[in-house]
Amino acid sequence: MRRTFPEYESIIGEVSASKLKQVARDLKGARVVHVNSTREGGGVAEILFWMIPLLNELGLEASWEVMEGNLEYFNTTKSFHNGLQGDNVILSDKMIRAYEDTVAANADRLRPILEEADFVVIHDPQPAMLHELCPERKGKWIWRCHIDVSKPNRKVWNYISSKVNGYNASIFSMPDFARKLNHPQFIIAPSIDPLSVKNMELSEDDINRTLTEFSLDLDRPILCQISRFDRFKDPIGVIQAFQLLNGAFNAQLILAGGGATDDPEGAAVLEEVTDAAEGNDSIHVLMLPSDAHRTINALQRASTIIIQKSLQEGFGLTVTEAMWKHKPVIGGNTGGIRLQVHNYHTGFLVNTPDGAALRIRKLLSRPDLIDIMGETAKEFVKENYLCNRQLRENLTLMLGLRRGLANHLITD
Ligand code: UDP
Repeated sequence: MRRTFPEYESIIGEVSASKLKQVARDLKGARVVHVNSTREGGGVAEILFWMIPLLNELGLEASWEVMEGNLEYFNTTKSFHNGLQGDNVILSDKMIRAYEDTVAANADRLRPILEEADFVVIHDPQPAMLHELCPERKGKWIWRCHIDVSKPNRKVWNYISSKVNGYNASIFSMPDFARKLNHPQFIIAPSIDPLSVKNMELSEDDINRTLTEFSLDLDRPILCQISRFDRFKDPIGVIQAFQLLNGAFNAQLILAGGGATDDPEGAAVLEEVTDAAEGNDSIHVLMLPSDAHRTINALQRASTIIIQKSLQEGFGLTVTEAMWKHKPVIGGNTGGIRLQVHNYHTGFLVNTPDGAALRIRKLLSRPDLIDIMGETAKEFVKENYLCNRQLRENLTLMLGLRRGLANHLITD
């Protein structure tokens, strides 16, 4: 579904729209290539899905390429991901070989377009090595890291940083994640598209149909966490928090998520979650297809409270999506969730299942607080985390790189 710029203008306002157009004007015709590792599932794909058409609409020539690889490659890059988030993973020579051979094959396929581009934006570690395999590159290369790399496994970081040190710049989602690298680092938080199927307004009928489809009770409070089945999202902790409620408020819990093609661990985590939920009819574990955007939208809108009890989180677009829909969020006290959830304002930050249960009880006993926090949450997203802001910051960075600003910073 193609959205036009005037439709955005009606949400973000004329001033924000004109600021964005002004920055884009100076980059008219620039060829921009984004590379990530999946077209569906996860926050990066969610962002690129709106960003590419909007860049084109603004006059740049943008395209999106996706890494191709086998299970061994994706197992290795998932280990990179877990290691960058601090897990003690083992990287064998065989894994490194699988990674390097796969990136080399992708480089053979993508080299012409990457070497000709004015800007190449490489997302996360999966395609990171493409840079050194494109020696004739003409443009500026940016490494966009979406992961919380504040306390990485040292070996994994040493390896990945050796692949990204040669880039012209990197972008992190928040200051805590920035690390020592040989180039300037920029802080740009992610954002959501308010007009996407995931976030657009839905009718009551639409929402109720989804609830009926999943045998959810319209008259009972709904607590909901939407996430890939990933241990860092702590779905088991959410179930423990729910069980601590002991049936209070007659609430229902939804844990909904699908897989991502670059995340081979999902099936095992889903099994752990299904086992933990067994025997409790008030817990609904929903495995969704990768294009279930309208369903997720409806589930978020139908929820009384959204939970995102991650143990580590780069940003947490699910938090932004929920807040945009007037929902208070009970979120893990970590990473990008801290940027969005502010205690007593837009939700509560929690560290344990007990903490989450306590905050759920508090909110369910205070519907007035749910309404006030939901309103604040919506305004907070409108102000800070809509796509126009992220685009403007990205374009400003690109302009800076083109004009040699970053080189100036390095040599200063
Ligand atoms: N998402 C989805 N289907 C799912 C689970 C998640 O479409 O089954 C979406 C979710 O709505 C959000 C993104 O994937 O837009 C997840 O981004 P987030 O930053 O929360 O986490 P990530 O998966 O990138 O770690």
